[in-house]
Amino acid sequence: MKKTVLLFAAMFCIAVFQPKASNVDYQVIPIPERIDIQRGEGFVISKGTKILYTAGNEKMKRNAAFLSEYLKENTGLQLKMKAAKSGGKAILLKTGLVSKNSEAYEIEVSAKGIVIIGASEAGVFYGIQTLRKSIPVAKVQKVKMPAVKISDAPAFAYRGMMLDVSRHFCTVDSVKRWIDMLALHNVNTFHWHLTEDQGWRIEIKKYPRLTEIGSKRTETVIGRNTGKYDGKPHGGFYTQAEAREIVAYAAQRYINVVPEIDMPGHMLGALASYPELGCTGGPYQVWRQWGVSDDVLCMGNDKTFEFITDVLNEIMDIFPSKYIHIGGDECPKTNWKKCEKCQARIASLGLKADEHHSAEERLQSYFISYAEKVVNKKGRRMIGWDEILEGGLAPDATVMSWRGMSGGIAAAKMDHDVIMTPNSHLYFDHYQTKEANTEPLAIGGNSPVEKVYSFNPIPAELNAAQRSRIIGVQANLWTEYVPNFRHAEYMVLPRMAALCEVQWSPSYKKDYESFLKRLPMLVEVYKIHNYNYAKHVVK
Ligand SMILES: [Zn+2]
Repeated sequence: MKKTVLLFAAMFCIAVFQPKASNVDYQVIPIPERIDIQRGEGFVISKGTKILYTAGNEKMKRNAAFLSEYLKENTGLQLKMKAAKSGGKAILLKTGLVSKNSEAYEIEVSAKGIVIIGASEAGVFYGIQTLRKSIPVAKVQKVKMPAVKISDAPAFAYRGMMLDVSRHFCTVDSVKRWIDMLALHNVNTFHWHLTEDQGWRIEIKKYPRLTEIGSKRTETVIGRNTGKYDGKPHGGFYTQAEAREIVAYAAQRYINVVPEIDMPGHMLGALASYPELGCTGGPYQVWRQWGVSDDVLCMGNDKTFEFITDVLNEIMDIFPSKYIHIGGDECPKTNWKKCEKCQARIASLGLKADEHHSAEERLQSYFISYAEKVVNKKGRRMIGWDEILEGGLAPDATVMSWRGMSGGIAAAKMDHDVIMTPNSHLYFDHYQTKEANTEPLAIGGNSPVEKVYSFNPIPAELNAAQRSRIIGVQANLWTEYVPNFRHAEYMVLPRMAALCEVQWSPSYKKDYESFLKRLPMLVEVYKIHNYNYAKHVVK
């Protein structure tokens, strides 16, 4: 009996007075460029520690609030925030780091406190992400931070993730959850694929039928175009107010939203709403199946050009992004070859086939160049999928290389900016294991975490000037076989962790074995948020 009492007393002491020793580990994902453990004492974060931020700077105030929230999630500690430049032992957030890279940051932990200094508020935010990920998830009274100096900056300025909300719609709350996931992985660009054959998802005030009709399909094919349908209507769209709310939510997390209006193909959502925009005049139906439709915008109709001008102008009004994505992929020329209006346009423009391009490819190029002018007129820049190379590249276009690396290589050699997003490595709708029969139905392919991690965005055959044209890396989640957002989480996590080290960390620091050892700590953060991550390489 006496022994039991003693044992209980001992356990009580351990529980209350000796909180679990923290295992702070600065080797987070993505791995920082430099981590120099310093001699001497570190700093102990406890209930009384304050987070200090620059007075009068709303972004820094919000950064402080993020850090406070993250620390509470990990440890249960609720730190107070204060606008001040100094003040005892604290976590001080400030800008002013001199660096060529605006997202660079440094963290210094010493007995005096913790300082996170960024080259900008965004840099401070990434310092906060690193600090957050280095602190283990465990309810504690104190966190003992070893003395360290970390200095870090991203390898690529454009670090993207694409989400297709057209094949399957996601709610505003899910999109916000997606943005939180991006922030955790230092991703700074959310490419939002908003329109498709299977649904138009963004309100355009001048064309209300786009959402009244184009956002709804009557049912969806079962499996891979089996000819059987589920009988369940599917739809949804974002009002312009909701889209603006998403843009603001992302901006608070230093994420830019690049909207994509896919044209001139992948347009059945629009054609079903406004049949006069097609070569045949319809009737058209919002597609119930997957694939590439022959029904695309008619190039012979002046209304088509008016339509995309109006749509892009409303889109640029909602989205402040420097980049506007106009798609340009997978546009069959079948109808253009047969359409009198399209052929008349080819004749009036004097477009001729040569050994490289057909007249219809030149027509597409004419259309893309037109879209680029609309975008440039508002001071923005156009991105398109690598098909925009066909028929001649629009003058200032940035190319998203998805059919492997060759489109990106060709564009870089032509002095165009390139974002690498090859379907060989970075299509997260692909299976993530060879044992496809044990997985939910996917589009195909096999891109496990290790393969994603192995991706090298800089082709060896490019010279230094051409290499500097590779501005970034992106992974894509197409959602034909991703029926809901829980499933989207499963497809992107933890592959996004592998992606973010490709995007952020210097290539000489990449080491897959080390990555696997560091992953469980990140997964503890996934667990806090109940993210539905895949368990092929981590439990
Ligand atoms: Zn036509």
